Amino acid sequence: MVLSAGEIALAQGPGGWEVAEVSNQSTGYCPEAGSWPAVEEALDRVEVAHPGRFTDEFVFRRCPECGERNVVKDGSFVCAVCDGDLPATWNFDVPAEGY
Ligand SMILES: [Zn+2]
Repeated sequence: MVLSAGEIALAQGPGGWEVAEVSNQSTGYCPEAGSWPAVEEALDRVEVAHPGRFTDEFVFRRCPECGERNVVKDGSFVCAVCDGDLPATWNFDVPAEGY
Protein backbone atom coordinates (compact mmCIF):
# COMPACT_ATOMS: atom_id res chain seq x y z
CA MET A 1 0.00 0.00 0.00
CA VAL A 2 1.38 3.40 -0.97
CA LEU A 3 1.00 5.87 1.91
CA SER A 4 2.02 8.98 -0.03
CA ALA A 5 4.03 10.09 -3.06
CA GLY A 6 5.25 13.28 -4.69
CA GLU A 7 8.33 15.39 -5.23
CA ILE A 8 10.94 16.55 -2.76
CA ALA A 9 13.92 18.91 -2.95
CA LEU A 10 16.65 18.82 -0.33
CA ALA A 11 19.11 21.56 0.53
CA GLN A 12 22.07 21.84 2.85
CA GLY A 13 21.08 23.57 6.07
CA PRO A 14 23.06 24.41 9.19
CA GLY A 15 22.40 20.94 10.59
CA GLY A 16 22.80 18.96 7.38
CA TRP A 17 20.35 18.06 4.67
CA GLU A 18 16.85 19.48 5.06
CA VAL A 19 13.69 19.61 3.01
CA ALA A 20 13.48 22.79 0.95
CA GLU A 21 10.29 21.86 -0.92
CA VAL A 22 7.96 18.87 -0.76
CA SER A 23 4.69 18.19 -2.55
CA ASN A 24 2.13 15.46 -3.17
CA GLN A 25 2.53 15.98 -6.94
CA SER A 26 2.45 12.44 -8.24
CA THR A 27 0.21 11.91 -11.22
CA GLY A 28 0.88 8.19 -10.93
CA TYR A 29 -0.34 7.67 -7.37
CA CYS A 30 -2.43 10.88 -7.05
CA PRO A 31 -2.16 10.99 -3.26
CA GLU A 32 -4.29 13.18 -1.05
CA ALA A 33 -2.69 16.22 0.57
CA GLY A 34 -3.89 14.63 3.79
CA SER A 35 -1.19 12.00 3.35
CA TRP A 36 1.39 14.41 4.85
CA PRO A 37 1.63 12.52 8.19
CA ALA A 38 3.12 9.50 6.38
CA VAL A 39 5.76 11.74 4.76
CA GLU A 40 6.48 13.46 8.06
CA GLU A 41 6.93 10.14 9.82
CA ALA A 42 9.39 8.96 7.16
CA LEU A 43 11.42 12.19 7.30
CA ASP A 44 11.46 12.15 11.10
CA ARG A 45 12.65 8.55 11.03
CA VAL A 46 15.73 9.53 8.99
CA GLU A 47 16.13 12.79 10.97
CA VAL A 48 15.76 15.16 8.03
CA ALA A 49 14.37 18.57 9.00
CA HIS A 50 11.19 19.54 7.15
CA PRO A 51 8.61 22.35 7.01
CA GLY A 52 5.89 20.32 8.77
CA ARG A 53 3.59 20.28 5.75
CA PHE A 54 3.58 19.98 1.99
CA THR A 55 4.96 23.25 0.61
CA ASP A 56 2.80 22.65 -2.48
CA GLU A 57 -0.47 20.74 -2.30
CA PHE A 58 -2.32 19.22 -5.25
CA VAL A 59 -5.92 17.96 -5.41
CA PHE A 60 -6.41 14.90 -7.61
CA ARG A 61 -9.66 13.35 -8.77
CA ARG A 62 -10.49 10.60 -11.23
CA CYS A 63 -13.29 11.53 -13.61
CA PRO A 64 -16.29 9.24 -13.05
CA GLU A 65 -17.35 9.81 -16.68
CA CYS A 66 -14.17 9.08 -18.67
CA GLY A 67 -11.75 7.77 -16.04
CA GLU A 68 -9.11 10.48 -16.67
CA ARG A 69 -6.85 11.59 -13.80
CA ASN A 70 -7.32 15.30 -13.12
CA VAL A 71 -5.51 17.93 -11.11
CA VAL A 72 -8.20 20.20 -9.68
CA LYS A 73 -7.24 23.81 -10.39
CA ASP A 74 -8.74 26.93 -8.85
CA GLY A 75 -11.35 24.85 -7.05
CA SER A 76 -12.98 23.84 -10.33
CA PHE A 77 -14.10 20.22 -10.03
CA VAL A 78 -14.61 19.71 -13.78
CA CYS A 79 -12.82 17.11 -15.92
CA ALA A 80 -10.27 18.68 -18.29
CA VAL A 81 -11.05 16.03 -20.92
CA CYS A 82 -14.83 15.56 -20.96
CA ASP A 83 -16.15 18.45 -18.81
CA GLY A 84 -17.78 15.90 -16.49
CA ASP A 85 -18.23 16.75 -12.83
CA LEU A 86 -15.49 15.57 -10.49
CA PRO A 87 -16.39 14.30 -7.03
CA ALA A 88 -15.76 16.43 -3.95
CA THR A 89 -13.89 13.61 -2.22
CA TRP A 90 -10.74 11.73 -3.24
CA ASN A 91 -11.72 8.72 -5.36
CA PHE A 92 -8.56 6.86 -6.39
CA ASP A 93 -9.53 4.06 -4.04
CA VAL A 94 -12.30 3.22 -6.50
CA PRO A 95 -11.04 0.83 -9.23
CA ALA A 96 -10.73 2.58 -12.62
CA GLU A 97 -12.61 -0.25 -14.31
CA GLY A 98 -15.60 0.75 -12.18
CA TYR A 99 -16.04 3.76 -14.45
ZN1 LIG B 1 -13.77 13.08 -17.85
